[in-house]
Amino acid sequence: MDRKARSTRLLSMADLHPVSTDPSGSPVHEGVLGFHPVAVGVSRLRTIFVNLYAVETGDGGFVLIDTGMVGTAVFVKRAIAEKFGPEAAPKAILLTHAHIDHVGNARALSELYDIPVYVHPREKAYVNGTSDYPPADPTMGGALAFFARMIPTKGVDLGKTVRLLPKDGSVPGLEGWSWIATPGHSAGHVSYFREDDGVLIAGDAFLTADMDNWLSVNVWRRRLTPPPTPLTPDWEAARASIFALSDLEPTVVATGHGKPISGDDLGDRLRDLANETIAPSGSRYAGRPALYKRDGSVASVPPPRPDPLPKKLIVGAAIVLVGTLVLKKRRS
Ligand SMILES: [Zn+2]
Ligand SMILES: [Zn+2]
Repeated sequence: MDRKARSTRLLSMADLHPVSTDPSGSPVHEGVLGFHPVAVGVSRLRTIFVNLYAVETGDGGFVLIDTGMVGTAVFVKRAIAEKFGPEAAPKAILLTHAHIDHVGNARALSELYDIPVYVHPREKAYVNGTSDYPPADPTMGGALAFFARMIPTKGVDLGKTVRLLPKDGSVPGLEGWSWIATPGHSAGHVSYFREDDGVLIAGDAFLTADMDNWLSVNVWRRRLTPPPTPLTPDWEAARASIFALSDLEPTVVATGHGKPISGDDLGDRLRDLANETIAPSGSRYAGRPALYKRDGSVASVPPPRPDPLPKKLIVGAAIVLVGTLVLKKRRS
C-alpha cells in the first residue's frame, strides 16, 4: 500500500482522543493513566517510563506487545479491564525483547491470564534462565545511563509459557502483522509491523524520546533517537536494524519509550537516524560489541570502564528522582 493510501487509514486527532468503547457499546473514558490510541486497533499504556501495547486481533480479542516495568502488573490488569472490560484477557504476550522493563510483568500476566509468551529464538536464552544480558555501560552520562546502574540485566525464567515466533515472519493471532528481526539493542530483538497502514511497534530498536537527556525524559518530547545508549552492546547491528526499519516506510512509529510519532516522511527520518547511529565515542561497546553464541546467549563482552560516580551518591540521587517521578505521576 502506498503512502497516500495508507494515510487515509491513519487516525485523525479526534480519533486519538482517549475514548474507547466497551463490549456493551458505551463509551469508556480512559484516564491519563490508561491506554491511549496509537492507530486503528492499537493502543499504548505507559508503566512509569516504558510502554506496552495492546493490539486488537480483529475478532474481539487482543494481544499484548511487551509487558511493562516489573512490579506494575496490577496497574496493567486494571488498565486492561478499563479498556476491554472486566472479563477481558489478552490472547498472548509478544515480546520485542526481554530487558526487565519490557519482560517485567510477563510472568505475572501470563499466569494471571494463562497465556503464552512469544520471543525470537535468539532472545529465548534470556527468558528461560540460561543467560544474562551483556552488562550496561553507565559511564557515558545522561539520564538513562544514571539509572542503568540500578537496572538489572539478569535474564529471567518464564518456564513453560515461552513460545518461539514462527520462522515465516507471521505473528501469532495477528493477521496482517509481521515480525522483523532488529538485533543490536539485544541479540533477538524484534519489531512488529502492520503493512496495511504502516504501523511499526519497534521496542527499543530506536526510541521516540531522548532518554539521555534529563529534561527530555521529564517532558517526553517526541524525537527519534538511537536505541538506549547504556544498554546497547552492538551498535553496528543496531544501525543496520534502523536502516531495515526505514525501508518499511512506516507511517506511525511506536517504541518502548516515548510517545508515538506519525508522518509521511518517517522512512527518510529513520534513514537519517540510522546514519547518525554510532557507538558513543569511548563507550564500553564502541568498536567492541558483545559477542553471542548461536542461540543468542552471551559468549563474551569487552571489559568494563571505570564508573566515575560513587555508589552512595548514586543510590541517594536515585531515591530522590524516583520519589519525584512517582509524585508527579500521582498528580497528573
Ligand atoms: Zn531494552
Ligand atoms: Zn526499554
